[in-house]
Amino acid sequence: MTNTIIEIKNLKKSFGDHHILRDISLSLQKGSVTTLLGPSGSGKSTLLRCLNLLTIPDAGSVRVGDREISFGAGQLQAKSSEMSAFRATTGMVFQHFNLFPHMTAVQNVMEGLVTVRKVHKKVAREKAMALLARVGLADRADYYPGNLSGGQKQRVAIARALAMEPAVMLLDEATSALDPELVGEVLAVVRQLAEAGMTMVLVTHEIGFAREVSDTVVFMRDGVVVEQGAPSAVIDNPKEAATCSFLMRFSVEI
Ligand code: ADP
Ligand code: MG
Repeated sequence: MTNTIIEIKNLKKSFGDHHILRDISLSLQKGSVTTLLGPSGSGKSTLLRCLNLLTIPDAGSVRVGDREISFGAGQLQAKSSEMSAFRATTGMVFQHFNLFPHMTAVQNVMEGLVTVRKVHKKVAREKAMALLARVGLADRADYYPGNLSGGQKQRVAIARALAMEPAVMLLDEATSALDPELVGEVLAVVRQLAEAGMTMVLVTHEIGFAREVSDTVVFMRDGVVVEQGAPSAVIDNPKEAATCSFLMRFSVEI
């Protein structure tokens, strides 16, 4: 299948004797939006972190685009240059933004281009300014994170991830740390990226938003995929009892 951009096969991860991911296999299409739903502790963040190699899986393989890495016994340890190249295929956005506090918005967005990609500062700044405009923050370019709202900080973090031109964006509860009135501005940026054809994997508890933007919803519990499919199936007509009881908690939104 030429259109599959992420292929996860038999991925496993334990911390001590705690099995966090138990044999996860998923394939995601280019240009698609996939949302991971599931109770706290089900392994959603660990799965995203494995895609970005912030966490190294114990077994299985991950392919993003034409780069594949296999893990576990019998596999050659990937070289650090291979790991870096693989990592660069995805861009990660975290719940708590993780901006550099001593750098302005535009400096945060430029940083990876200048230090990792060795792009000339002037070129990097122009690109960063264009990205800040894209997330609606051209007029905040010279603000430090401490002088930005949570929603603005998260939009800077999205621009920073986009600057590296990842094939896939990974967003882990990007709106969970925000005051409710600031959630909408971040979701609007995510929606705009989806409309522009960016491949994304989202972890979110915004069920209404997940239903609207996702092509595929994956419900996880205890490190396994319980069910997956279109939002109209998994969110509106879940088959599994575990999915039903999880979604019941969000019944106000649905
Ligand atoms: P979710 O994002 O679905 O809430 P996580 O992937 O964050 O789930 O975590 C699943 C479980 O893995 C949790 O019980 C968490 O405590 C544990 N875990 C995650 N990262 C680590 C780690 N680095 N060391 C030990 N346990 C971890
Ligand atoms: Mg999590």
